[in-house]
Amino acid sequence: MIYYSFQIFHELNSEQGKQMKSMTCKQLGGACDLEFSANSFEEIANLSKQHGMEMFQKQDSEHLDAMNEIQAMMKEPGAMQKWFESKRQEFDALPDT
Ligand SMILES: [Zn+2]
Repeated sequence: MIYYSFQIFHELNSEQGKQMKSMTCKQLGGACDLEFSANSFEEIANLSKQHGMEMFQKQDSEHLDAMNEIQAMMKEPGAMQKWFESKRQEFDALPDT
């Protein structure tokens, strides 16, 4: 079943002619070198969020530190949007893999 879903996902991707792009947890404001691959920035942001929540549940100290840093930064009005936009540009500028 999982394999079947993956096949459909794969076909959809090639139909759109889109290539995956990769960014690491660190590049997305995290703390490790885990790589995420996605077609869109929204998708990759979502993946890194899921991973961040997992690390939060495990109380991984490096990720908790990184999260605290981002949270401190986000206290400034509009900072979240600015950060998000700059990461989106970084994603868009990546070569397709
Ligand atoms: Zn990480």
